[in-house]
Amino acid sequence: MTDALLAAIERAFTLLDERSLLEETYRFVSVPSPTGQEADFAHAYATVLEKIGLRVELDEEWPDSPSVIGRWPGAGAGPVLQFDGHLDAIVVPHAPPTLDADAGVVRGRGSADMKGGLAAIAHAARALIQAEVPLAGGLLVTAHGLHEAPGGDQRTIQSLLRKGVRGDAALVAELSHDDLPVTAKGMSIFRIKLARDGGVMHEVELDRPERNPLYGVRLLLNGLDAMASRLAARTHPLTGAESLFVGEVRGGDFYNRVPIRAEVVGTRRYALPGSKELVAAELNELCAEVARQTGLSVHVELQEVGKPYALDTGEPVIAAVRRGFARATGGDLPLAGAGAVGNAVDFVAQGVPAVYHGVNQATAHSDDEHVSGADLLRAARVYAASAVEFCGLAEGEPRDGA
Ligand SMILES: [Zn+2]
Repeated sequence: MTDALLAAIERAFTLLDERSLLEETYRFVSVPSPTGQEADFAHAYATVLEKIGLRVELDEEWPDSPSVIGRWPGAGAGPVLQFDGHLDAIVVPHAPPTLDADAGVVRGRGSADMKGGLAAIAHAARALIQAEVPLAGGLLVTAHGLHEAPGGDQRTIQSLLRKGVRGDAALVAELSHDDLPVTAKGMSIFRIKLARDGGVMHEVELDRPERNPLYGVRLLLNGLDAMASRLAARTHPLTGAESLFVGEVRGGDFYNRVPIRAEVVGTRRYALPGSKELVAAELNELCAEVARQTGLSVHVELQEVGKPYALDTGEPVIAAVRRGFARATGGDLPLAGAGAVGNAVDFVAQGVPAVYHGVNQATAHSDDEHVSGADLLRAARVYAASAVEFCGLAEGEPRDGA
């Protein structure tokens, strides 16, 4: 069976080429799809999948952000591998797209994040189909909008999963490309509000300095800083250290007016067994201490952007993608923790084990976003090989390698 697997993977590899991946990615980047306006690109992607031979439908629960669903049935009773990607690109201007085939690079908004990944998925599926690889389990391709913050909130992919559009495992085609995240930190945005009674007044009217919300901000920042140092000193295997980051401090509008409120906003990233509840308890304790010292009201609100998770390392998709990577590159894909919050979180939350493998996101969200042909080809080869490894081959094969 191993020989048959290897032969099937090799047949698919011969049908993947860098040039057509670059051209496909360039065509995708040329169809703008800012978050919330993905319909044109959704239709373009659906057309590409249809031409390959997938059974394609659109889910138009959010009409301006339709989700593309493509299915290739398995020839046997194997598990279904779901490839997933987001259709939208961040709403930040970028120079017009370019394709430099000789240099092997596509530039433009969405090229690395993540239209290159979507092109690699399509080309991997096409290679498997054209090579007549008799996958035992099927392929499911999903592509959805409303991903990128601040407009995106993952409702599209969460809804698809709830409707049963799900594989036995998922490969999300972005983020890591040289390691395999099997665990991720959760992340919550915290917003701490400090306020005092009464109105804005001249500074000379202030009875005690502690009553100034900005005095409370100082105590709060000291406390948060101590908390961040404690977190940095404690690392977790794979996910690294937890963190606390302050990104916004707001308060005051004039040099000698005492404000009535102030606000401190930031992120808190936490690994299992940590949780939003534990983080809230810790921050509430600090807020209560600042309130006690100042007489101010101090409250924290937490918005959880992603929950922490850890896959069972025995999940078949992990071994399949690692073997697929080895077949595609000859290299090893070490297990790791995810550095950012991506859609694997949404899959895992609904019981679908999910890993990331992307093109190369070094330039995602940058002013010179680009992706190389070498990265596109490597990703497509990893996807094709991982599909064979995960879905298996139907009995009675191999067919003649036509
Ligand atoms: Zn992305």
